[in-house]
Amino acid sequence: MNKIINRSWTANDSAELYGVNDWGAGYFGVDQQGLLSVTTTNADTPVNAPLLNIVNDIKERGLDAPVLIRFEDLLDQQISRLNNAFRNAIESAGYQGDYRGVFPIKVNQQCHVIEEIAQAGARYGHGLEAGSKAELIIALAHIESPDAHIICNGYKDQEFIDLGLNARKMGYSCFFVIETPSELPIILERSRALNIKPLIGVRVKLASVVGGHWNATSGDRSIFGLSIAQLVEMIDSLRDEGMLDCLQLLHYHLGSQIPNIRDIRSGVVEACQVYMDLVREGANMRYLDLGGGLAVDYDGSKTNYIHSKNYTLDEYCADIIDVVITTLDPNKIAHPTIITESGRATIAYSSVLIFNILDVATFTPGSIPKTIPDDEHQLIQSLKETFDGLTEKNMQECYNDALFYRDEVRELFKRGHVGLRSRSLAENLFLLIMQEVLKISEKAPRPLQEFDKLKEQLSDIYYGNFSLFQSLPDVWAIDQIFPIAPIHRLQEQPTREAIIADITCDCDGRIDRFTNMRNTKTTLPLHPIIEGEEYFIGVFLVGAYQETLGDLHNLFGDTNVVSVRFHNDGTYEFADEIEGDSIADVLSYVEYQPQLLRERFRKIAERSVREGRISALERQSIMKAFSESMQGYTYYEKD
Ligand SMILES: *Cc1c(COP(=O)(O)O)cnc(C)c1O
Repeated sequence: MNKIINRSWTANDSAELYGVNDWGAGYFGVDQQGLLSVTTTNADTPVNAPLLNIVNDIKERGLDAPVLIRFEDLLDQQISRLNNAFRNAIESAGYQGDYRGVFPIKVNQQCHVIEEIAQAGARYGHGLEAGSKAELIIALAHIESPDAHIICNGYKDQEFIDLGLNARKMGYSCFFVIETPSELPIILERSRALNIKPLIGVRVKLASVVGGHWNATSGDRSIFGLSIAQLVEMIDSLRDEGMLDCLQLLHYHLGSQIPNIRDIRSGVVEACQVYMDLVREGANMRYLDLGGGLAVDYDGSKTNYIHSKNYTLDEYCADIIDVVITTLDPNKIAHPTIITESGRATIAYSSVLIFNILDVATFTPGSIPKTIPDDEHQLIQSLKETFDGLTEKNMQECYNDALFYRDEVRELFKRGHVGLRSRSLAENLFLLIMQEVLKISEKAPRPLQEFDKLKEQLSDIYYGNFSLFQSLPDVWAIDQIFPIAPIHRLQEQPTREAIIADITCDCDGRIDRFTNMRNTKTTLPLHPIIEGEEYFIGVFLVGAYQETLGDLHNLFGDTNVVSVRFHNDGTYEFADEIEGDSIADVLSYVEYQPQLLRERFRKIAERSVREGRISALERQSIMKAFSESMQGYTYYEKD
């Protein structure tokens, strides 16, 4: 609700309204000029830059919005934060084991991202997790130190296993995590054939079930991992083969984005029991791999709501270390090296999607005559009387009446009893009443029952130059919520309430759920568009899972992508620029041949020349325009 405030609006008010300091994790903030800025800490001094400046600099280099900006420094800092948090927890608890993180490649497979992770992670021995042959190939090409682990999850065929075994021979710390009983015989057979001893891990299904969106990965019915009974059989097979010493790692993964620290603790408790029994069975246990699940606080509420988390990174690390110590110590079991496979929390912060607004649809009534002509239909007279008599006391009644009169007019219209102009007058009067009701209700001690619905129905539609399906697939697929805010004009009070529609012509291509403390809201406050000026909106924390899950709905392709790296003096460079897909690119993805399309069109144009519809000169410019659009950006291009 836009409160009426007496003092003038400041950038701080916007920061609070959009929750920037809550979800920004210190990386995003609003400066006094009303610009949303990004802050990174280089050589212990924070440097920052307004996103608008970066967008303008990118535009000067010929890349337009929509653009995905990747901040390499934020990725580096998240890797450091994660490793340092575990180091601190280990030190202060006197833990005897170590910590080794791995980044799950599936969370963002982009080459530049993986290169950055490998480089920034090297000093911590941060490794990679691979869930397929393709990802293993990526991992092998990026991990250089045997300190950094490669954890192979997912189904493994002989080719996958041979590749991993040879990597082991070359000195890689490459683990096969057994996900299904059928994998073990292949691993045993291939390791005999190649005479290479594997490093084996086992993924177990824990009984612990977690809350949140992604909890299908936990519990008895989760798809991956061995049941406890299958685990026992596997131990026996390994012992029979004389290879129990190869089993060194226990793995589990309860699901992504676990909002409640209690669920994380109870998973570790159960896993520690399994771990200890594996030691007692004679396995050469050294590693406990907790999988992913470390959550991102998308709404900034610090609660156990699905889009949030009720713990800090430090608490996460301290709790894990604490549970392992208190469970293992009484049983005199040596502390394992802790591995986590945090994807979302590592990469989410580093990417921001920026798009411009192309158009706005408002639901404001058109002009209405001062007096309604006497010969106008009685229902329209009633609508006008309702409007004139509207007060705080009778607003609910007026709301109900207005709905009734409007629907009656629509019925009569259908049957041909009122004309187009009368209907238009009725619709305008109706909107006028609804706006008034909303205004009164906002200030009333007890708002209208239908207040939220009405607010949404009267909100503007801001059309953004992006495709939800391509750039924010989780918003569509699983109702994921990302923080969204304008990146400039924040010293001005936003006076409109809006939902955002993308430029696919699909009614699902809309964003109508926004972050708010503890729950979600259906509209977002935005500024009125100024004629001739761009209005840029940022969608934040989109680094995890969004890039490769996106699809080509309506043939909108990849956006432009720019990687930004800051220098110590606060300047920044564009370390990498990738032009988004051209129309020819997306056409070829769905098996069209741009050359053939051009040839077909040329034939039709030639026929038009012969038939005298266009001149040969016109044909030339039409063909030129056709070829040029093939090379164009799939998104809306200004001029
Ligand atoms: C997806 C996945 C992860 C990553 O989970 P996050 O919640 O993004 O950290 C880690 N491990 C496995 C096995 C996964 O399938």
